[in-house]
Amino acid sequence: MSTAYDLVVIGAGPGGYVAAARAAALGLKTALVEKDDALGGTCLHRGCIPTKALLHAADLYGEMRQARHIGIEAEGVRVDWRKVQRSKQRIVDTNAGGVRHLMSTRGVDVHQGFGMLDGPGRVRVRSGKEKKAATLATRNVLLAVGSTPRALPMASFDHPSGRVVGSDGILRLGEIPGSLVIIGGGVIGVEFASLFVRFGAQVTVLEAAERLLPAADADCSLQLQRQLAKQGVRIHTGARVGDISPRKQGVTVGFTDAGGKQLTCEGDIVLVAVGRAPLTQGIGLEQTQARVDDRGYVRVNGWMQTEQDGLYAIGDCVETPWLAHVASAEGIIAVEQMAGRQPAALNYDHIPSCVYSDPPVAQCGLTQQQAAEAGHDVKTSVFPFARSGKASILGKKEGFVKFVTEARYGEILGVHIIGPQATELIAEPAFAMQLEATVEDIARSVHAHPTLYESIYEAAAIAADRAIHG
Ligand code: FAD
Ligand code: AMP
Repeated sequence: MSTAYDLVVIGAGPGGYVAAARAAALGLKTALVEKDDALGGTCLHRGCIPTKALLHAADLYGEMRQARHIGIEAEGVRVDWRKVQRSKQRIVDTNAGGVRHLMSTRGVDVHQGFGMLDGPGRVRVRSGKEKKAATLATRNVLLAVGSTPRALPMASFDHPSGRVVGSDGILRLGEIPGSLVIIGGGVIGVEFASLFVRFGAQVTVLEAAERLLPAADADCSLQLQRQLAKQGVRIHTGARVGDISPRKQGVTVGFTDAGGKQLTCEGDIVLVAVGRAPLTQGIGLEQTQARVDDRGYVRVNGWMQTEQDGLYAIGDCVETPWLAHVASAEGIIAVEQMAGRQPAALNYDHIPSCVYSDPPVAQCGLTQQQAAEAGHDVKTSVFPFARSGKASILGKKEGFVKFVTEARYGEILGVHIIGPQATELIAEPAFAMQLEATVEDIARSVHAHPTLYESIYEAAAIAADRAIHG
């Protein structure tokens, strides 16, 4: 058995590698086990970074095509998909190199191979390439194994036609599909719809819930739905998918719409984006005291501890929001707990969550509906970007900032933004919520003019009954 560690982290995504870096900084002798060749996990290789690199290309393309409205003539603007893909890959590779460098400078031992629990205080690492296994002895283990796209029973991702893909497969497309059917209108489905419709594909989205982004505030999701429809995305909500029939030339999806009508739609490709499944099978959890629920999520407390002494779990393999920054924050809490630093548990009510579509959507805290269901005396205030000088300069006047507050003292319960730079703008209200600031505090803080973030001030000022432009 090799060197004894204080901590072995299994999985080098944003949960695992951040935890390993923090653990090493706290003086824990740390190893990181990753089955893939490169470090960075779903987020870096199949998630946040590659999708946002592609979406940035779509944003730029859209801006260039719109530029003539303000007197900038740009002719012959076209997309070279292969170069877009290459540029995306360069960004991913550079960042993966950065993660490896970070591990080396922090003194974290990286072991390439499939990690599994092998009795108390032991992790077995099987390396496919070298066809050998090593056992690492350790005081603590952190499971940061993440998740994988969930397939639908009627069509697996390895169908020989190659026409049924998940979010991993669609990132590898060699060309922009002429038409694309997306099953699932959550964050991932919406981002790919927004990407490919702007690159000229005919996009159809089939969502089972009554609106896109069912977890978002209803006003934001309905506004997004209108905007995407205006751009040409065909949207069926309340859709029940019946069958998926891939053929040599294309794929047909049969579904029942909200009114009970049987319909079909066709695409070159179908993207199944109906959620993700944790990668917790076959890693030895059954030999431990840790509890795993019927969908495969590992049960943890606020310090990410399982029921098995010295075994922790974080990120997409526990049932908290599937977000990279949540995985990282949980990783830091877990290792600080191991190191005896007594960290505070994470407050999941203050987590910003972003959708990088056009227009983008961002939220922090409760939706109006959740706040009402929780029994709050809810007050809402909305400032439309149509009244923002900066938004009109940018030609992006659609959308709004919405505050959901407790009527009596102006406590901020949730903030919802749809419109230009929403994913950046959410930082201020998220920080305000963390500091337990009120709408009055935001309305008293001077915001620079002309900026988009003045709209945060304006919405807060409306909530605090101090509005000028509202
Ligand atoms: P992962 O990133 O999945 O990392 C787990 C790692 O563990 C992987 O490298 C895996 O190979 C490895 N592993 C698994 N099992 C083993 C084993 N037994 N032995 C060794 N290694 C193992 N989140 C955001 O916050 N912002 C976004 O914009 C965003 N966009 C996304 C877009 C897409 C298309 C997808 C799919 C996800 C997106 N996410 C986004 C979600 C985000 O990627 C995840 O929440 C995040 O990656 C979870 O981090 P993690 O460390 O828990 O797991
Ligand atoms: P997310 O949870 O953000 O990954 O999004 C998954 C989305 O897929 C959610 O909006 C679900 O309502 C939706 N969904 C799940 N199963 C189906 C299905 N069979 N058909 C259509 N949409 C689905």
